[in-house]
Amino acid sequence: MKFANVIIDQDAKALDREFVYKIPDDLDVTLGERVLVPFGARVLEGFVVDITDETDYDISKVKPIIRTVDGFAVIKKEMLALMHYMADNLHLKLASILRLFLPSEMRTGKVKELKVRFVRLKNEDITLPKNARKQAEIIEFLKEKKVEKFSEISSNFGYAPLSALVKKGDVEVFFEEKKRAVDYDKIALKKRELTPLQQRAVDTICENKTYLLHGVTGSGKTEVYMNLIERALNNGKTALMLVPEISLTPQVLANFKARFGEEVALIHSGLSAGERFDEWRRIFFGEARVVVGARSAIFSPIENLGIIIIDEEHEQSYISESNPRYDTHEIAEFRKKYNDCILVLGSATPSIDSYLKALEGEYQLVEMPVRVNGMEMPKIVIVDMLNELRHGNSEIFSIPLMAELGNVVEKKKQAMIFINRRGFSSFQRCRECGYVAKCKDCDVSLVYHRYENKLKCHYCGKRYRALDICPSCGSHNIKQGAIGTERVVEELKKYFPDVPIFRMDNDTTSTKGAHRSILSQFREAKPGILVGTQMIAKGHDFEDVILVGIIDADQSLYQADYRSIERTFQLITQVSGRAGRSKEQGKVILQTYSPRHYVYRYAQNYDFKGFFKKEANLRKVTNFPPYTKVLRILFSHEDENIVAKEIKVCYNKVQEVKEKFKDDFIYLDVMKSPLNRIKTKYRYQILTRFKLGKAKEIEDEIYKCIDEKAKSSIFFEINPQNLS
Ligand code: ADP
Ligand code: ZN
Ligand code: ZN
Repeated sequence: MKFANVIIDQDAKALDREFVYKIPDDLDVTLGERVLVPFGARVLEGFVVDITDETDYDISKVKPIIRTVDGFAVIKKEMLALMHYMADNLHLKLASILRLFLPSEMRTGKVKELKVRFVRLKNEDITLPKNARKQAEIIEFLKEKKVEKFSEISSNFGYAPLSALVKKGDVEVFFEEKKRAVDYDKIALKKRELTPLQQRAVDTICENKTYLLHGVTGSGKTEVYMNLIERALNNGKTALMLVPEISLTPQVLANFKARFGEEVALIHSGLSAGERFDEWRRIFFGEARVVVGARSAIFSPIENLGIIIIDEEHEQSYISESNPRYDTHEIAEFRKKYNDCILVLGSATPSIDSYLKALEGEYQLVEMPVRVNGMEMPKIVIVDMLNELRHGNSEIFSIPLMAELGNVVEKKKQAMIFINRRGFSSFQRCRECGYVAKCKDCDVSLVYHRYENKLKCHYCGKRYRALDICPSCGSHNIKQGAIGTERVVEELKKYFPDVPIFRMDNDTTSTKGAHRSILSQFREAKPGILVGTQMIAKGHDFEDVILVGIIDADQSLYQADYRSIERTFQLITQVSGRAGRSKEQGKVILQTYSPRHYVYRYAQNYDFKGFFKKEANLRKVTNFPPYTKVLRILFSHEDENIVAKEIKVCYNKVQEVKEKFKDDFIYLDVMKSPLNRIKTKYRYQILTRFKLGKAKEIEDEIYKCIDEKAKSSIFFEINPQNLS
């Protein structure tokens, strides 16, 4: 007798364990397969995660599996191991982890393979009745062509004669699956001779460990990735490459298709359900040996990995912010170990976390400090917007930016205008002296909450009065909020009525294919201006862009997040990197109200190392990650009394943990979340920060403080991206 341990595919905490079922003798069940099982009065789907010969349960009470669902094991061994790892380390529910591993369409049974009907001759010698001219034509045709689509024959020769032949048994009908083709831009890519720097990088990255590839924008990282992937394929291995956003994939995918053809599969959220299902199966069955995709592609069922690449590794989008929460780096690290393969993290602006790991020897650093074609990095000009104001210019655009735009238009070149917008939170700033209020305890910027007219610290919950007078210079000229892309386009049109101006942001790219269409229109427009948010910041490679304008560089500087300065540095470097990639040195006009902030000085000099040193030191002395961990537990419920009560109980227990690890705790408090009510649910949070030494122990102990019942409605987040 065989038994199967099954995880029920339901999101309830109470079902978050393995249930034992009998495997009927006449049923073939393999590890990792989906099955239907009786559960109470219901029949539910589940995953077989273990098969054993015996059980401790009373055999007469163990129910049998009803049947299998797919006929093959959808969860491969590596993914089972990953499931256990994620459950143990990230405090996630088993079913919610398994769901990450297959296309959601498969679970709901909403998509099927696309089957196409074909016909072929069954007999060679066929006697036809007289006058059956069409039938004779069909037979002649099939003798020649052997196989053809049913629909094709039917529309060329008629349905009646074809079905007559089928009925008589002269022609047979069969079905074959047709994979839905994912759309991509077709380009002809010539393989390039590597530059010595690229060659050195490719040669260095040869051992099965983690490398941090720090290459300036335009240093030709993509070509390095492709060479590494080629090598993996030549060694009989497979490759997985992650890119941060869909807006990047048209170009990246086109490049990869041109180089690797049908071996490439693409996984991202912009695919239709059918496309995703087909791509997933092409990977699963080994037809595609190179996977390119966004974050979720890290869970692709690709086997025999030789290399994993995370491009733009510093990007926030690699961290999933909705349940189940995970960091792609961590999953990649797991898969690297499991497959004993290479992991490459690439960026022009590595995260403070990753760079620290490189300095500490956990990653090996590989550097490409100059551009492929030897082009100088764009010249970054910092424009003091307060100074513009003092000289009577209160427009969005500074005088230097207008002058440069005029120059671009005259030369029939292209410009990108970048609007720094992030989330919906905003800060208050003095228009006279640039003062921005910060929390006294946390040294992060305060967030303005319009509804209550208060400033709040998102790290400790402390509230401050909104500014009406600047504490620094006494001015009443206080401003809040940010400038939007739409407004910028309108303004630009006034000055350049004849120049094509494109807008790329969340609003203009919500439909399928919108990214590609905007980008390809812009590519043809000379002169042309592209106005956009974070979406235009990275990856794009337009030869004729010689100018980048950054409208409000400070926007990301004053987010209530200890990473806001790091993000600002990354953004400026990335957007600047869009300029001057071809023949003419690019120029960047950076508009700011805090021109003396150190972040701009380092960015202006492309001094990543200097910036890292300064920033890492600041984090160290203020006790923020990567030198500590921030942990948030967010409770939410429609009944405010219930959340308040539940969180209080939990908080009291966490305080005991704090007592136990007195020397490790830096901060612990409970508070309403800054956004206290979302979608009718009240939100409360426990926030804590502790040292790294015993971090895992502390996390586990804190997790135990959460009531079992509450576990399905909480968020347990390490170093959350956002505390609102
Ligand atoms: P990065 O990702 O490092 O910013 P890219 O990979 O986009 O840089 O490369 C920058 C540009 O240089 C691209 O237009 C690319 O086609 C080109 N390029 C890359 N490698 C070479 C090479 N070896 N020779 C000539 N051009 C190259
Ligand atoms: Zn604070
Ligand atoms: Zn002031």
